Amino acid sequence: MAEAVSEEFWNAFCDTASMEVQCGCGVLYFASGDGDWNPGEKERLQKLAAKEPKKYVDNVDFTRRIDIAGTTFVAGCPCLEERLTRYEAFVWGNRHMIASYLTARTNREFEEAKWNREGAYEVVKAGDLEAAKRVIESLRGNVADLEKRLDAK
Ligand SMILES: [Zn+2]
Repeated sequence: MAEAVSEEFWNAFCDTASMEVQCGCGVLYFASGDGDWNPGEKERLQKLAAKEPKKYVDNVDFTRRIDIAGTTFVAGCPCLEERLTRYEAFVWGNRHMIASYLTARTNREFEEAKWNREGAYEVVKAGDLEAAKRVIESLRGNVADLEKRLDAK
């Protein structure tokens, strides 16, 4: 039997917890105890769960998920646990290469962001304020992306 996915992996890659999420295997999980449901929607799902308990699962609480390569993995769903474990094994088994990649990529993007900043300065000096705004918006996007990556570390 495969080792379980670690809590660290869940914390690093879990995008969100949802009121309703369909696992890659097709089972739909929903949180009858949480969230702001449209009138009748929760009751509709509860009826489906009563009829088809293997296809509709009332988790009561919000459901955590990880999306990788177009597949949704729902926390606690036994069907994909082994597949998700393989992704974690890949990441952990290649952590030194992944760390090198992240460092190299971050450095490159930092250099590009610096170039954008200098480019914005040149555009402002030339008096083209609309072009400067576009460059600055692009720079903000790069900075936000870098901050997300650094926060994830
Ligand atoms: Zn599943």
